Amino acid sequence: MGNNAADIIIIGAGAAGLMAAAGAARTIGNSGRVVVLEKMPRPGRKIMITGKGRCNFTNVKNWNEFSGHIHPKPNFLKPSFYNLTSEKMIDFLTAYGMESIVERGDRAFPASHLASDVVDALVRAAEEAGAEVICGKEVKEIFHDASAESFSLTCSDGSSFTCSRLIICTGGLSYPKTGSSGDGYEWAGKMGHSVKPLFPSLTAIVPKGYKDFPTRTAASFETAGRGHIHRREPLSEMGKMLCGNQLKNVNLTLFIDGNEVQSEFGDLDFTDGGIEGPIGFKVSRKCVNAMINGSKVTAVVDLKPAVEYEDLYSRISSLWNEISKDRRNAQRLYKDRFRILLTKVLPQSLIPAFVKYHPNADHKTLSKALKSWKFDIDGYVGYERCVITAGGVSLEEITPKTLESKLIPGLYFAGEVLDLDADTGGYNLQTAFSTGYLAGISAGKEIGVR
Ligand SMILES: Cc1cc2nc3c(=O)[nH]c(=O)nc-3n(C[C@H](O)[C@H](O)[C@H](O)COP(=O)(O)OP(=O)(O)OC[C@H]3O[C@@H](n4cnc5c(N)ncnc54)[C@H](O)[C@@H]3O)c2cc1C
Repeated sequence: MGNNAADIIIIGAGAAGLMAAAGAARTIGNSGRVVVLEKMPRPGRKIMITGKGRCNFTNVKNWNEFSGHIHPKPNFLKPSFYNLTSEKMIDFLTAYGMESIVERGDRAFPASHLASDVVDALVRAAEEAGAEVICGKEVKEIFHDASAESFSLTCSDGSSFTCSRLIICTGGLSYPKTGSSGDGYEWAGKMGHSVKPLFPSLTAIVPKGYKDFPTRTAASFETAGRGHIHRREPLSEMGKMLCGNQLKNVNLTLFIDGNEVQSEFGDLDFTDGGIEGPIGFKVSRKCVNAMINGSKVTAVVDLKPAVEYEDLYSRISSLWNEISKDRRNAQRLYKDRFRILLTKVLPQSLIPAFVKYHPNADHKTLSKALKSWKFDIDGYVGYERCVITAGGVSLEEITPKTLESKLIPGLYFAGEVLDLDADTGGYNLQTAFSTGYLAGISAGKEIGVR
């Protein structure tokens, strides 16, 4: 075997690739060579930015609950998940020196709160099992020789590699500076696989009038993709008023072409991107998909979901009576008394934007406005800042129990490159770990030993 020949090559040393390397190397032991080719100078660049640097690496919910957070076909993940459950992943990382803690929502983090500890443990697991992780190797092209049952890879530095089993773990398209540039989708397509339409998910959705586009031309809208509004576009006056507000325990309902499609309760943040935070992200998948398909999207925020409309109406009426009867307010104008009412039902920082959105609101219509603050959605933040790429290599053409291609024996896909994505909460990384590990083990078994 030449120096650049291996039994199993894994492209990408991210979450899926490092687990694939550990799985493959553990399975074949000393009787074969496992090589990981990573284009970045260091492995796991994306893991380093996960969970705001704390890396929410899994979620310890059982399969029944876990699977509800996986899209579009949770059952595809089942064999991978049972082979490496969230609990087993925690034990796996503990065995390589990383302690974990489980926080609210069953989300697991490294006890050190450092994402780098996850990367270190994964690299240790792969290397101690015998895999070689080679960084700074960008794979450019893949040639499949069906008669020889082998793959040849060429890299951007002119080097080449061969292998009999190839695992593609190149991730998605988000945060391209971490190394994810979508190469895996292109190779999959060239090798005859279908790739389901790709779109950004777990991303900010942008209300109409939230951003100013002084530098934008019609042509740049076209090239950016339908509905894509770059994160760096400046905030409008309205955007500035809303940005920074963090709403706790509100309800967000998504309407597509006038039909209610999703309703989520929880926390919502207005950021420099638009609406995000846990419930903003939750609705973003359906929202982006709809916008790409040319549908009209509206998001309605209920600021008082715990109170029925009638109860809120009577509560506001009595507050209004108190304010009106208060002698200190006798000389005040209606708009000033109404302002006092607003301070009793809204956080101070939200009032300017609320008033601008509801210029005709009065004490009689306030309860309605509080329970249904309507935002027409203009677009969404794209791959420059989304958390995950939805769509990918079609699951129809991959065997769930092995992650092997049904079209090309010896070829495997794992992680975000597949048409699998999940909600926030540690589900995405666990999906990458589980599919990567099973792909590695499956490829290793084909080589033969143990
Ligand atoms: C800001 C942010 C925060 C996130 N937070 C969380 C979180 O807290 N919890 C969670 O579960 N998920 C989180 N995610 C999602 C999670 O990071 C991904 O689901 C996961 O990293 C996917 O793993 P992967 O191995 O498929 O891809 P990646 O981790 O992206 O790895 C792919 C690797 O392939 C390499 N590569 C690509 N092309 C080539 C090539 N041609 N040659 C060689 N190498 C190549 C890349 O450099 C990269 O290292 C977050 C994502 C982002 C962007």
